[in-house]
Amino acid sequence: MAECITLDLEQSFGDLNECVLVTNSERTITFVNKAMEELLRASRDELVGSTTERFFTDPTQFENMGELYKSPSDQRHRRAYDLELMLGNGETASVEVVSAPLFDTEHKLSGLLFIARDQAERKALESKLSDIALTLEDALEAITEGFALYDSEDRLIICNDQYREIYAHSAPAMFPGNRFEDILRFGLNRNQYDTDGQTDEEWLADRLNRHHAADGAVLEQNLADGRWLRVSERRTRNGGIAGIRADITELKQARAQAENAYRNVHLMADNIDASITEVDPDGYCVFINKTGCEWFADAPENLVGTRLRDRLPWKERENVRAIFEKASKGKKVSSEVSFHFPDGVHRECLMNCNPRLSEDGSVEGIVVLISDNTDRKKTERTLAELYQITSTRELGHEDKIAEILRLGTEHFDLPFGIISHVIDDHYTITHAHSPAGELVPGTSFPLEDTYCVLTLKSNEPLATSSAENSEFVKHPCYEIFKLESYIGAPLLVDGEVHGTINFSGPDSRKRAFTPSDIQIVRQFADWVGHEIARQRDHQALMDAKINLERVASIDDLTQILNRRAFLERANTEVQRFRRTKRPFTAVMMDIDKFKQINDLHGHATGDEVLKLFSDVVGGALRAVDVFGRVGGEEFCMILHNTNMDDAMLVCERLRLKIIEECQLAQVDQTVTCSMGLAAAAREDVEFSTLMQKADTALYEAKSTGRNKCVAFVGEPERAVAL
Ligand code: GH3
Ligand code: MG
Ligand code: MG
Repeated sequence: MAECITLDLEQSFGDLNECVLVTNSERTITFVNKAMEELLRASRDELVGSTTERFFTDPTQFENMGELYKSPSDQRHRRAYDLELMLGNGETASVEVVSAPLFDTEHKLSGLLFIARDQAERKALESKLSDIALTLEDALEAITEGFALYDSEDRLIICNDQYREIYAHSAPAMFPGNRFEDILRFGLNRNQYDTDGQTDEEWLADRLNRHHAADGAVLEQNLADGRWLRVSERRTRNGGIAGIRADITELKQARAQAENAYRNVHLMADNIDASITEVDPDGYCVFINKTGCEWFADAPENLVGTRLRDRLPWKERENVRAIFEKASKGKKVSSEVSFHFPDGVHRECLMNCNPRLSEDGSVEGIVVLISDNTDRKKTERTLAELYQITSTRELGHEDKIAEILRLGTEHFDLPFGIISHVIDDHYTITHAHSPAGELVPGTSFPLEDTYCVLTLKSNEPLATSSAENSEFVKHPCYEIFKLESYIGAPLLVDGEVHGTINFSGPDSRKRAFTPSDIQIVRQFADWVGHEIARQRDHQALMDAKINLERVASIDDLTQILNRRAFLERANTEVQRFRRTKRPFTAVMMDIDKFKQINDLHGHATGDEVLKLFSDVVGGALRAVDVFGRVGGEEFCMILHNTNMDDAMLVCERLRLKIIEECQLAQVDQTVTCSMGLAAAAREDVEFSTLMQKADTALYEAKSTGRNKCVAFVGEPERAVAL
């Protein structure tokens, strides 16, 4: 039985850290555990069977303890007391002992249980705990936040100096044991808090609610001096509240500045005439500026969160997808693209994709800037075409002006293009481009009825893309022609106002005219002005040339072809003969005895005869015949499409006509003429030889009596005749 008990005790206390000793009712030791062996510096074998008396340094203590359990029914409770023990090795040790009586089934005292704890160990532990407490206080002071701990009845247990400093007004109330509410009220009464328009009681109630919630949520508290605190309170395990206060005034200011800066960035982005968006790596919109919203024709709240590329025509999406794929690998991509935007406008754009990288280098988002280059591109193209039109030699003046008007209507996307000439108050269309030829050159209007009066008054290019919404609406032109769009420039020719060049249309334009458009219309005006001036110069030059040519080919005295011009025309006739084989006859004419007229009546009279002779002969010929003065009083004719026989008839008629009509009253000598005729016969004829032949025939006429017509007879015939 005793064995059994020992075994039970061994199981219960054997390995316990506490030192355990059991006696029987006679106080003979029946069990010690290992810890007790070590404490008493004696082995179990030595101890079991001996009484505990030997360990008491004070024998009376042993006696007194015996009394404790004499009356078991009253003394059931554990007792604790400090004892000074005599150890097995002769040393002493002070221990704290707890004893308890053991009873058998009949409630009789069967033994005593002692549990002893080494006091030295406990003291070491206590000092350690006190160190920890000191460290805790230090720790609380070391943290930069204000810290306060309230117990389950909301009374202050501990707080650090920072907490007192933050709430300087309520610091006097921060003594341990004071209730949170009282500390709060103390501060409130000293205007510590900015209650933001609430009454003190409302504010206090709110604050206490939050305090008792103690859910760790962050509360931003504003103090009357402008400081901001971040308050976070949490329930402790034993029902108290631990709270932390941090001064976030600077943080709040920085945040306000950052928010302001962010707003400014947005404002900037909204004022940029380009679409700025940020998309996530999957292409979904995170941010879009005002221009972007206009181009994608929707409100930002409808655009953000969607994939903008899906709003473009499907043909263009693939292109964008490829660009995004590159950008989402962290590359900057810049590409020229051409999009039909949802607002219905086709734009030629430059698209810049800038990946935004996170700290670890992965792509967080892509900032996409799309700038509209349509105007620039169009301007470039128009200027190139203008250059081509104006510099080509293939187009004449009128064609060039027509092309410039066509180019203008295309560039400005307006149906009508006009060049006007303005003289005084009259506006006359000189050139026009209109879809169905509605505008007719030569049409005139009072200048006052056209927008051009404004252009000429301002002496600068002028434009409106919506007359209805501009000053133009007050103009009579708006009443009369209902033109909503107009762009025009004064036209100067050699520095003088000539008129205007203008383009117009009945509808207002989707796009307003740009500064480049003004430049373009100015260029047009410059070129047209230049072109008109050039044309004027050209015309003057042509007139001079014609005059010069006339002067160079007409004989001064007789006003018929001179020798040079006659020979030129004669060559043309020879060439025609070679081509057509149609015959012609050359006739040499020489006035008979002319020298005599000069001699008798004077040179001037001779001149008069020459003039009269030329008029008579010239007047008798057909327009296709050629007649020229080839020497002093020698003339030559080419009778077009006329063979020798016919020519002879013509010449005879002429000879008689001369006798009839070439007489001057003061000249008593009858003016007559001898003629030699030579017909073109062979294909290889040269006019010079034909003239020689006619000359030979003429000589024949002179030598055989004058005032006659003689045909040249060919060499073979002559040879035959001889
Ligand atoms: P024919 O021909 O019948 O043999 O006699 P001709 O008197 O006409 O002879 P010739 O041909 O020798 O004389 C031509 C004259 O014409 C010589 C010249 O003084 C004169 N003459 C030449 N040119 C002009 C001119 O422009 N005006 C005048 N008045 N006389 C001219
Ligand atoms: Mg002569
Ligand atoms: Mg003569």
